[in-house]
Amino acid sequence: MTPIALTDLAPLLQKHFGYRTFRPLQEQIIQTMLGGKDCLVVMPTGSGKSLCFQLPALCTDGVTLVISPLIALMKDQVDGLRENGIPAAFLNSSQTATEQAAVRKSVERGDVRLLYIAPERLATHGFEDFLESIRLRMIAIDEAHCISEWGHEFRPDYRNLRGLRCSFPRVPCIALTATATPRVREDIREQLSLKDAPLFLSSFNRANLTYHVYPKSRSFERLLLLLRKAGRLPAIVYCFSRKDTEALAADLAAEGFSCLPYHAGLDSGVRRSTQEKFMRDELQIVTATIAFGMGIDKPDVRTVVHMDLPKNIEGYYQETGRAGRDGLPSDCIFFYSYGDKFKQEFFIGQMQDPAQQRVAREKLEHMLQYGELAECRRGFLLRYFGEDYDIPDCKGCDRCLSERETFDATEIAQKILSGVLRTGERFGAAHVCDVLRGKNTERIRSNGQQGLPVFGSVTEFDDRQLRELISSLVSQTFLRKADGQYPTLSLTDRGRLFLAEKTPVQLPVPEVQVEVAERAASSDDLLFDPKLFEDLRRLRRSLANAQGVAAFVIFGDRSLREMAAYFPQRPESFRQITGVSDRKLEEYGSGFLDIIRSFSANHGMQERMPKSAPERRRRDRIRTVRRKDSTYEETRVLLARKLPLSEIVRIRGVQEGTIIQHIEALALAGTALEIDYLKPPAPMFLEISAAFDQHGMEALSPVFNHFEGKYPYDVLRLARIFLRQKPH
Ligand code: ADP
Ligand code: ZN
Repeated sequence: MTPIALTDLAPLLQKHFGYRTFRPLQEQIIQTMLGGKDCLVVMPTGSGKSLCFQLPALCTDGVTLVISPLIALMKDQVDGLRENGIPAAFLNSSQTATEQAAVRKSVERGDVRLLYIAPERLATHGFEDFLESIRLRMIAIDEAHCISEWGHEFRPDYRNLRGLRCSFPRVPCIALTATATPRVREDIREQLSLKDAPLFLSSFNRANLTYHVYPKSRSFERLLLLLRKAGRLPAIVYCFSRKDTEALAADLAAEGFSCLPYHAGLDSGVRRSTQEKFMRDELQIVTATIAFGMGIDKPDVRTVVHMDLPKNIEGYYQETGRAGRDGLPSDCIFFYSYGDKFKQEFFIGQMQDPAQQRVAREKLEHMLQYGELAECRRGFLLRYFGEDYDIPDCKGCDRCLSERETFDATEIAQKILSGVLRTGERFGAAHVCDVLRGKNTERIRSNGQQGLPVFGSVTEFDDRQLRELISSLVSQTFLRKADGQYPTLSLTDRGRLFLAEKTPVQLPVPEVQVEVAERAASSDDLLFDPKLFEDLRRLRRSLANAQGVAAFVIFGDRSLREMAAYFPQRPESFRQITGVSDRKLEEYGSGFLDIIRSFSANHGMQERMPKSAPERRRRDRIRTVRRKDSTYEETRVLLARKLPLSEIVRIRGVQEGTIIQHIEALALAGTALEIDYLKPPAPMFLEISAAFDQHGMEALSPVFNHFEGKYPYDVLRLARIFLRQKPH
């Protein structure tokens, strides 16, 4: 291999890929490869592993052979490289004999730098002779965990790679994977004779992903709210069954989303077309079983939703990992219900091997723990994968992001714990909840529980709030939930002590209404013009269509966002946008510049390119307001314009309730607001203020109950803001 001065790498990175700097570990790995050594790379999805062999491939005079398990992914990768002017090709069974012969010819001629193949090709007749006849300079093995039986995606064809290594022992080899426990890692080393290869291992923390868990009740309504927020599409929604994917796709389509289902029961032509539409941005949402994934390498998936309980943390982490591969903020939403456990247990019960059953049960138990976790979700996930992660606030999970207030829950905790005790510690949360709420159910009657003093003792919280309070008491270890099939509640020692001594206890305020997930603030949260971004996306979509390639092959979201933030007007400035290689400037520069220029002219925008990298970073920082603050500020500005609530709701893309909560928070923070125009009409306002006089202003639910639901919570909350403003 011709040695390359390292100082020359940065210009290559800029010229061929349009990137200014290397991501962590990339440079060290490339350096090692260029030094002729083998490497083992274990880095999470989206960390930029491909570049680690693509860039060195450009520094050699021969061919780099890339082994990749999926034919579907090969085309996108090769398309992407060619768009950047890098000579790449693939050989697989989707091509005709003539096409394959043509590819071989061009490899033999030395016209190809990267050749992608699937592992089964290695076993085909004459392929090794072909490899002998070309200048094979490097071997890259993608998804290397497929070689291990200990992994979760074992592919027997990967065993062919052992022969390849024996035939070309002096050709440096790089093995890459995003999922490898220490055991699988050792297996990869063993199988691929990578004994002395340095290991490049990076943290599995996906800092740009935000993790949220919601209770499964009203999940469709909440899903709609989430997906309608700006920047939450495209999305993948994972469902339990094929039937579920179809029903949900129909429901989402009825709500105006472009959405199709994907599962293994569909005809392969339909599956392929759905996948292609998703890749080309013609579909906003795919509802899918876990069959959808391995073939999906879309870097700009903004949301991954799990409507049902995943089998295990490994699967969940891999599926959520498909969000935000481009490094931009993205969300992982999980609708959790303890009851879903039984669906999974049914399948576990059908496994033949008892040892396998035991492992599966254990893994399922961890998944349930994740759903019920009271502390940081990210910390739990990373510790599960053996990382030391003990940062107290990850800033990217519902537990760390919520600034949920606590309240003095001494009284309600007493009621709940007595309810559990008086019903004999033999029932689950749902039944205890029914008793406390005084429901007339068959089960309560047959157990004669209407006569208990705790029966009907809870009126200040509704069913959902009460169940949430019970969960809080479980996670704060006042209550214990039995493992296994019957999750009965019982008191812990701490619970008994509390009932005996009645020491005050604080619990998080249960949710009063559907809230929409806030996303973690991120340094990547560049403020860009969403209208221009949409225009640019449209151009990208039509170019992708015309060329039959995936949308991101043209430009990634990061590139479009920078264009929509910096408004480049000239090719020299367009050149500075991330992802603009020489080739792409030539090919697409004028098309994108036209749109940016005419948009700028129409909206009076000027070019505002940052001058240098440090300045760019500084500027990004300045322009990045913490999302929470900025969201309030945006609401305040719209209020100052005296826009009707419905209009603010439309502009902000959030629920009316959220806007009212913003107003309340701003008012409580003492911000000057001009909101008189939102005041409820006088007769209604008087009626409501009388009810607040009677019940006090602290809680909304007594007033809500007072009117028996006549006034929604939003209306009451809004009225209370005015009541607090002017003492009457
Ligand atoms: P992985 O194979 O690790 O999942 P990819 O190789 O697909 O990750 O890279 C993920 C994304 O990061 C791609 O969109 C890629 O273009 C981008 N990327 C890779 N390296 C860099 C870099 N040095 N600077 C900016 N973006 C990069
Ligand atoms: Zn967290």
